[in-house]
Amino acid sequence: MNIQKSKSLFERAQNSIPGGVNSPVRAFKSVGGNPIFIQRAKGAYLYDEDGNRYIDYIASWGPMILGHAYEPVVKAIQQKATESTSFGAPTELEVDMAELIKGMVPNVDLIRMVSSGTEACMSAVRLARGFTGRNKIIKFEGCYHGHADSFLVKAGSGVATFNIQTVPGVTAGVANDTLTAPYNDLQAVEALVAAHPTEIAAVIIEPVAGNMGCILPEPGFLEGLRQICTDNNIILIFDEVMTGFRLAPGGAQERLQIDADLVTYGKVIGAGMPVGAFGGRSEIMQHIAPLGSVYQAGTLSGNPLAMVAGFTLLSELHNNPSIYQELDEKTIYLKAGLINAFDASGFPYVINQLGSMISVHFSEQPVKDFASASAATNTLFNKFFHAMLNRGIYLPPSAFESWFLNNALTYEDLDLTILAVNESLLEIQQS
Ligand code: PMP
Repeated sequence: MNIQKSKSLFERAQNSIPGGVNSPVRAFKSVGGNPIFIQRAKGAYLYDEDGNRYIDYIASWGPMILGHAYEPVVKAIQQKATESTSFGAPTELEVDMAELIKGMVPNVDLIRMVSSGTEACMSAVRLARGFTGRNKIIKFEGCYHGHADSFLVKAGSGVATFNIQTVPGVTAGVANDTLTAPYNDLQAVEALVAAHPTEIAAVIIEPVAGNMGCILPEPGFLEGLRQICTDNNIILIFDEVMTGFRLAPGGAQERLQIDADLVTYGKVIGAGMPVGAFGGRSEIMQHIAPLGSVYQAGTLSGNPLAMVAGFTLLSELHNNPSIYQELDEKTIYLKAGLINAFDASGFPYVINQLGSMISVHFSEQPVKDFASASAATNTLFNKFFHAMLNRGIYLPPSAFESWFLNNALTYEDLDLTILAVNESLLEIQQS
């Protein structure tokens, strides 16, 4: 595959952008090789600067549920842009958006828009601290909740990919207020709560983890967390930045039938525009300024272009719930193809999947937490990633990321992907 233009762009980029990228995982540092510079995308396909086409399994890390450059979203943005791109004053569209979201997701009386998933999680934690008057939080090893200081402790995604143990710049004071437990380990959470009975403001979790590959909550785990939080007046925060509007219209809360106290959303609700949101019951949310004194703000929050893009996408998901069934069926079809290919190859593997989230770990053991995700042979994943990329299949460039399917994928695309998996595994065997 000719990627000459991507190569020269990467060289140029490194002179003016740290590492040549504006977000670390894009640099291909752990998988090696030259990152691909994308020129445009349509439906399920990405096109790079050299004119190569890729079937996309990143979907902008989640939001492109209906595929790229989805016509109604593009038209809505174009039209809205003629009315100006930002006011910093309230708009009717923000009210429409809040009402639409409340109609789709459980347990949200009030919802505040922000501009990224990081902001959403950071604000939800501040609110939980302000509401409870407590300082500490519990997060899970390998979960990623954005790059706010409190979350960069045993974090997933790029922090795991680059094996960063402690992040310089995060003060010991902040890090000490973040307690961590292994994913799926209720006993560890119980022990932390017992050790700090009146100090824990919140437990924050990805209800289905996507930042150490895809990892599912074991039966009873989230239910147990819910109970511990209720018993100890701890705020349970579901970080649904990946799962929200993807696993079901009401996200993981709906799909897994567990109620959170606060929920955070991200990229999906902006259809790829920079958006996030956090919401919950009014009893808690009314502590946010200007109703209360937990301060949180944003010049671009509720930005009209982001709102119209998100409103258009979410309306589509709201009006056509069959999309979720279609996505599930496509993912299960892909999973079956992957299982056949991996069985034939003899490589040890674990495939975790729920809804349209799926990933492969080269592992003999079940992958159920960060330790087991890290114990997988991720050097094999890196080879697999490149073999697939060379065949025009764009997977996330790390074993510590979930793949996301979009509904523009056809069964022909899935068959091409499965063929590429077979060929790639054979190639790795022979190398
Ligand atoms: N939470 C989760 C679960 C995420 O996956 C991410 C980003 N991938 C974030 C929070 C942070 O979102 P953002 O990158 O928009 O700040």
